[in-house]
Amino acid sequence: MTDKLLSYNPITQEVVGTVPLTTDEELKDVLERSKKGEKIWSTLRVSDRAEILNGIRKNLVKKSDEFISTISNETGKPYWDSFVEVMTVAEHLKYMCRHAPVILSREKRPTGILVHKRGYVQYFPHGTAGIISPWNYPLILAISPVVEALLAGNSVVLKPSEVTPITGDKIHRLFLDGGVHESVFQIIQGYGDIGSKLVESPQSDIICFTGSVKVGKLISEHCAKQLKPSILELGGNDPMIILEDADIDRAVSAAIWGGLSNNGQTCIAVERIYVMESIADVFLELLKKRAKELNISDDKKSADIGSMINQKQKETVISFIDEAKKEGATFHLDYNQKTKDSSCFLYPTIIEEKNRKSKIMQSEIFGPVITVFRVSSEREAISEANSSGYGLSASVFSKNLRKGREIAKQIKAGSVCINDVNSNYGCASLPFGGVGISGIGRVRGEEGLKAFSRVQAVYEDRLGLKKEPWWFPVSDHTKKWFKRFFRYWYS
Ligand code: NAD
Repeated sequence: MTDKLLSYNPITQEVVGTVPLTTDEELKDVLERSKKGEKIWSTLRVSDRAEILNGIRKNLVKKSDEFISTISNETGKPYWDSFVEVMTVAEHLKYMCRHAPVILSREKRPTGILVHKRGYVQYFPHGTAGIISPWNYPLILAISPVVEALLAGNSVVLKPSEVTPITGDKIHRLFLDGGVHESVFQIIQGYGDIGSKLVESPQSDIICFTGSVKVGKLISEHCAKQLKPSILELGGNDPMIILEDADIDRAVSAAIWGGLSNNGQTCIAVERIYVMESIADVFLELLKKRAKELNISDDKKSADIGSMINQKQKETVISFIDEAKKEGATFHLDYNQKTKDSSCFLYPTIIEEKNRKSKIMQSEIFGPVITVFRVSSEREAISEANSSGYGLSASVFSKNLRKGREIAKQIKAGSVCINDVNSNYGCASLPFGGVGISGIGRVRGEEGLKAFSRVQAVYEDRLGLKKEPWWFPVSDHTKKWFKRFFRYWYS
């Protein structure tokens, strides 16, 4: 193995850049340094940390063109997609920096019958946060947890995906240039093995992992052995439910954007659509028409969709499609009609499935494939939506908001959109994360900031009595009084 990691442009196959691979010895030094960084950073007030990170946001805006072209070069996305990624990060930074000082401030809690006491909760950093990120949104999925961990007072060691190391490197530089000390935010570059060592080290105090279910389970096991807290943001197989009274035009546009943008390589991509039988034909016809209209090309300025991340991912998706074909699914739009074999391009596929247990229905495809399933009742739609074991996100389309809300309550997913799709991720105040095999814990929102914090409950005596009535010795009179009070107060 070389000591350098090369990043390739999936469209041109040119090298975008190289970074040195972090060795095991270097990781030890990184973690030692991080322990020193904790001491510097955790003593700052949250508002001081927020001020530094606000400056970083402004620098990100100044350098946005550079970030946009790096993301597009490493992933094959059109510039518009990379711009949206940068803007989502700026919005998250702005929200978090504004609200973190209040969210992480001391919270008074009611003391119930203990009226002579004072109770409150305060938040402290865990120490060193290890953050491991994937390639599909190389900026957002690295920066967002980094920002939350830093605001909460942790020092950070980031391991970006080996597929997008240059974006990772630029993030690191942005933070150092913005005034974050080099011991407070460090980066390690490499494959899963170095990520695994970061997780296993007793010097990392919390792990935030975004990636596949398979690796997430491994990380969870390693953390469990040390009782180390972990936030696991894993895969999805998101359902969309379309009721009879839905605005079909809007639902189709949402399905196309939610299912096919970034080539479906989005954890919250729409993968399964449950549409009411009575509108299914009209819906499918329009879905097919809109998918055909998409501009899929290497022209980064005008394309709606660019290439897949690499040949391997393209082949994985094709194997799912081939299996669905073998099992007899109906193809309304077939990738075979347009795929240029040696490239990383893969054109949209629209499948109609009757077998609810098929692999294409039950797996995360992570490619431009939408599968439609006809349902005859809302109950059936909800039961199918909840049937895959994943539970990241979901959406419901109906003109009846009350009905939409009722259905949302019954869907087992970390987030549900009503008459919308995916853009909930742009709303930085909302927590994000999954249930079932889609993960544990939350990032973003108040919950995300608190997840990177160690919670301490403080309980203070206000009266200074000689002793509490329940301390030894407890007289018969006191016992009798307590029993009487108990019956009066709680019955
Ligand atoms: P992946 O699990 O292969 O890799 C993710 C990261 O983990 C990479 O940096 C990788 O180097 C590292 N890694 C691999 N093995 C490791 C190990 N044993 N120990 C520690 N680190 C290790 O995932 P990917 O292919 O990069 O990303 C795609 C997956 O990520 C999809 O399943 C997608 O749904 C999921 N994802 C989830 C979210 C979310 O927020 N829930 C967001 C984006 C992507």
